[in-house]
Amino acid sequence: MNRKPIIAANWKMNKTATEAVQFIEKFENLVGGSSLVDIAIAPAFIALSASKELLVNSSTTALAAQNCHFEESGAFTGEISIGMLKDIGVDYVIIGHSERRAIFGENDALINAKAKSLHAAGVNPIFCIGETLEERDGGEIESVLRRQLEDGLKDLDSVNMIQTVIAYEPVWAIGTGRTATPEQAQEAHAFTRSVIREIFGDSVADQIRIQYGGSVKPDNTKELMGQEDVDGALVGGASLDPESFADICKNAAISD
Ligand code: PEP
Repeated sequence: MNRKPIIAANWKMNKTATEAVQFIEKFENLVGGSSLVDIAIAPAFIALSASKELLVNSSTTALAAQNCHFEESGAFTGEISIGMLKDIGVDYVIIGHSERRAIFGENDALINAKAKSLHAAGVNPIFCIGETLEERDGGEIESVLRRQLEDGLKDLDSVNMIQTVIAYEPVWAIGTGRTATPEQAQEAHAFTRSVIREIFGDSVADQIRIQYGGSVKPDNTKELMGQEDVDGALVGGASLDPESFADICKNAAISD
């Protein structure tokens, strides 16, 4: 099955709107409209509008947000609704990132509510899953991934699921410089796809794109992307520099 790779930049709480614009101007020149990979950039909320102005005519690069609230509007001080993001022209929203799970106490039920609201609004979730080192060492990888997938994607419809991107991010590899080996990534991705197959059937499982995330850099991209079930990358640290992120995108395009 030929799935087009999707590479996404998660800038986390980095870059002002001015810095985001400077990055995008440089980056778009470096990637030069390659149609071999899909690209998405997730700046902070305050940089989304300025980023969209530059990306509106981009043939490769879409705009992503790093979070959303599941309600349409109301008394939720400090939160941002999906409608507000849609109004700016956001294409993807990252949900279930391990930092939101660990630091902000987000659980599978809340992530499921966000996934459902995103699907209802026609915005694509980048749905993150992944085990901690303790869970891996305790032999719990499969039970953790299965729970995150079953509970987080509960009651979703298979038509919309095709638009969802799953990001497998082993927590022990995020921001640590410790990347999963290509074999470890492939094993977790194949398992993830098998659970998607059980829940949503062959068509969704064959088409859905599963990104790997965790210390992806230009020099490990090709090997990771060369794995059968790895369909892209969610990149934190190495996406903050335009040259490094462009190299990751280019290397993803030429992996076999
Ligand atoms: C992430 O935050 O999603 C991530 C993968 O970060 P890093 O690339 O820095 O490990």
